[in-house]
Amino acid sequence: MPTGWPRFHSPTWYEDRIAARRFPRIESDRSVRVAVIGAGLAGLSTAFSLLERGHRDVVVLEAGQPGEGASGRNGGFVFGGFSLGPEPLVRRVGLDRARVMQRWTHEAVDRVRGRCAALGVSLDGEGVLLADWFRNRKGLDALRDAIHRATGLELLALDRAQRSAWVCSDRYGGGLLEPGAFHFNPLAYVRALADELDASGLSVHGDSAVERIERAGGGWRLRTRDATVRADRVVVSTGGYDRRLVPRLVRSIHPIGTYVAVTEPLPGRLEALIPGTAAVYDTRFAFDYYRRIGDRLLWGGRISIADRDPDAIEALMRRDVARVFPSLADVRFTHSWGGWMSYARHQMPILGELEPGLWAASAFGGHGMAPTTMAGEVIAEALDGEGDRLEAFRSWGPSWAGGPLGRWTAQASYWAYQARDAIRAWRSSG
Ligand SMILES: Cc1cc2nc3c(=O)[nH]c(=O)nc-3n(C[C@H](O)[C@H](O)[C@H](O)COP(=O)(O)OP(=O)(O)OC[C@H]3O[C@@H](n4cnc5c(N)ncnc54)[C@H](O)[C@@H]3O)c2cc1C
Repeated sequence: MPTGWPRFHSPTWYEDRIAARRFPRIESDRSVRVAVIGAGLAGLSTAFSLLERGHRDVVVLEAGQPGEGASGRNGGFVFGGFSLGPEPLVRRVGLDRARVMQRWTHEAVDRVRGRCAALGVSLDGEGVLLADWFRNRKGLDALRDAIHRATGLELLALDRAQRSAWVCSDRYGGGLLEPGAFHFNPLAYVRALADELDASGLSVHGDSAVERIERAGGGWRLRTRDATVRADRVVVSTGGYDRRLVPRLVRSIHPIGTYVAVTEPLPGRLEALIPGTAAVYDTRFAFDYYRRIGDRLLWGGRISIADRDPDAIEALMRRDVARVFPSLADVRFTHSWGGWMSYARHQMPILGELEPGLWAASAFGGHGMAPTTMAGEVIAEALDGEGDRLEAFRSWGPSWAGGPLGRWTAQASYWAYQARDAIRAWRSSG
């Protein structure tokens, strides 16, 4: 179990769809070039990029099993961009640099797609659709133009009728379709990466929480319950699931929860509501995110600092589903769960060397599938002495996130944004 923070442990729908395999606990001492702490997508992508660069002297230590954190419990949307929106990114680093950084995340989407093909992970559907909750054509056009200006990305604009070919609900106006994006079972992908690393001679250990980390000569010493690992370099990628290992990192990150539920099979009831293959989210700050998986609906939403139990999550998700698809107000859910995202105050990933030999790849927020993959490449390059891309992330280092008060501030701003969205929606319906 990871240290010091509760987790939403209800089983996910994804777990039922992968082969049962437990990665063994580390039981003997090791000396390695690189130790990665945390087998979420950030840690595994780093190890995978190191493998692709020919490095095998790498160990991955995971407190639970690979993908037990956010990476194996998320919505499964793989799309470009960072948690920080495109326009704030431009304001921070200028247009040219922001466009380059955005491009890295879109290249990462292609990289995940390529790895899926190579590892035999199937995709659930193509495209991600941003549906206009506020039914405001002008506002949506302005958003599309702003995204284009800030990223260079051409989203496909759909009017209301065209949007209905993808998702059919009176709740929305038009939509913006991100081509190239896709959705899949994220746990299947995480486990495929872990299997491939293991088969290629890197060690991946489950049930191996790192309890202490300390300097040892020119490198680092990690202690788990049963073993000591000495490493020249350490990459800490524990997301929102560790609350004590590297205090400087812990102080910079808020764990923020979000929830997912999967319905019982609904044969014949979803095709007319979601005729397209795309996954869908909407233009509110606190958006719903959902997708059709066979004859079931996977529904996600909400942002909270509370770790609710499955029944409470189910009740919230049922209410949210009914607002978009009133005909599904009666559906039952077979699975519901939550997960912790990790947010820095600046909403960008924390990537870099905290102290000599101690690296961080964390704080990917709610937009992590592509950026963690990009981060793996950037860290692997930097560990090989090619630090050019890493330099781009220097200005978003670890900074104090405000402690418990900061978490409540994050919750309060979510409520404020929620209220602002409700007022906007009310005005646009009037
Ligand atoms: C419900 C939900 C839905 C989401 N939907 C999407 C989506 O659709 N698309 C998208 O792009 N992003 C989504 N996200 C965000 C995305 O999942 C995350 O940004 C991303 O997975 C973060 O990866 P990570 O490797 O940094 O963290 P994690 O996946 O959380 O991995 C951290 C790992 O570190 C391990 N660990 C912790 N402490 C220790 C220790 N002391 N020793 C060893 N191991 C330790 C944990 O057990 C965990 O496995 C969602 C997140 C959630 C929670």
